[in-house]
Amino acid sequence: MFAPCNVWDCDRRDTPNCAEDAVREGVVSGEFAPCNVWDCDRRDTPNCAEDAVPEGVVSGEANPAFPNRLLILDDEPDICSMFQKVAEEIGFQVQFCTQAYEFAQTYEIFQPTAIILDLMIGEVDGVELLRSLAQRQCAADILIISGVDTRILATVRRLGMNHGLRMLATLGKPVLVEDLRAALRQSLHTPPTITERDLGDAIELKQLIVHYQPKIDLRSSDVLTVDSCEALVRWQHPQFGLLMPGTFIPLAERTGLISSLTDLVLDLVVDQISCWREEGLNLPVAVNLAPQLLSHLEFPNRLARRLSRRKIDHSKLVLEITESAAMEDPVRTMDILTRCRLKQFTLSVDDFGTGYSSLVELYRMPFSELKIDRSLVTEVDQHEDAKIIVRSIVDLAHNLGLTVCAEGAEGPEALTFLRSVGCDKVQGYFFSKPLPPSGFATFVEEWSKG
Ligand code: C2E
Ligand code: MG
Ligand code: MG
Repeated sequence: MFAPCNVWDCDRRDTPNCAEDAVREGVVSGEFAPCNVWDCDRRDTPNCAEDAVPEGVVSGEANPAFPNRLLILDDEPDICSMFQKVAEEIGFQVQFCTQAYEFAQTYEIFQPTAIILDLMIGEVDGVELLRSLAQRQCAADILIISGVDTRILATVRRLGMNHGLRMLATLGKPVLVEDLRAALRQSLHTPPTITERDLGDAIELKQLIVHYQPKIDLRSSDVLTVDSCEALVRWQHPQFGLLMPGTFIPLAERTGLISSLTDLVLDLVVDQISCWREEGLNLPVAVNLAPQLLSHLEFPNRLARRLSRRKIDHSKLVLEITESAAMEDPVRTMDILTRCRLKQFTLSVDDFGTGYSSLVELYRMPFSELKIDRSLVTEVDQHEDAKIIVRSIVDLAHNLGLTVCAEGAEGPEALTFLRSVGCDKVQGYFFSKPLPPSGFATFVEEWSKG
């Protein structure tokens, strides 16, 4: 009988007294190679390094030609293989491990940009793993996939965030391939081979496409209806698959390509609105506007001409602007936004709760809608403080005559709370992820059937 070692990646955890006799003073003599398994409490004992990791376990090294390197830790090899297949299809180089000690070694050598973690690997739990990763200042995106209760999943994610780790979504098992793909795509980094010219060509070649995420109206007491949708750009890259906006919008903003990118998105959206109109679908569509565009005084007129050409009612277009953008040059922004409003475009302040808002400027700007950022909304089912803030934002917005849309509702608890505080609309994975145009039309049709 012995106490098992509680060091998560110690290779001797099942040997007698591993925990007790770990590191004693005077053991370190320098005659042997130290163990390179993290946190091993025997790293200074003879042969620890040699017998720690079976030969051949660690094979892949970080390859700069692959900017997207995924390391998977799951004790079921079949699941690892399935994850590997999906990840490779969208452009990841993949290594997987079925034991915690392999993971530690592989991590050091492979330097993953993304990690999939199961929460229970033998005796080692995910909380220990996250703590070890945080100690190593891990900058990889971390996706937790586990069969444990969703509340525990959410808490572990929160804990990782508090450690300063880059936590992606959490997924419960069994995992849908589509969900896995979507989560991993959020971690695809702009490959170094992608340059301003590549993005410029992609815009020219119209490789950018738009997905649409429904916004659900919560105001009616019984039947919830689809209120509108948000247009979210993606890049259908011939080599790297579908790239999320986080991987190329910053490049577009830095290089000035954001202007032609937005023109393309607006063209696609305008085409889509008129196409849906022919099919009898007449919902407003929200488009995201980068801060830079709010310095172009001619923007409102150009936008109005674009819609008039297709005989589209201006009220069908909602412009989403982040609060920090709205505060950068308040006078010029107010000029542009007021003219947009006079032309009957709806203005929405996006990601509210993340920037350094001046509430005074906020009420001076002619917004009609306020969108509460996802980072606050995902917290409401766990943190009383988040509830207080969200409730206060809803009251504030209503007192200023704005409607409120909450972003990022992922579960029924969040929805119940949002309804209870009088939030007008909600957008989130609980209802639907962003969908290609045909998928969105089908969603609306199915929804209306109940
Ligand atoms: P955003 O405008 O705040 O859009 C909402 C983001 O939250 C979208 O991510 C959406 O997929 C995600 N989201 C919505 N509900 C949930 C949920 O329940 N859970 C989780 N985990 N995520 C949810 P996406 O599509 O990756 O877009 C990210 C950001 O990229 C957008 O944030 C927006 O700022 C920017 N973006 C997207 N399209 C465009 C565009 O055409 N032009 C510009 N300038 N920016 C864009
Ligand atoms: Mg938005
Ligand atoms: Mg937002």
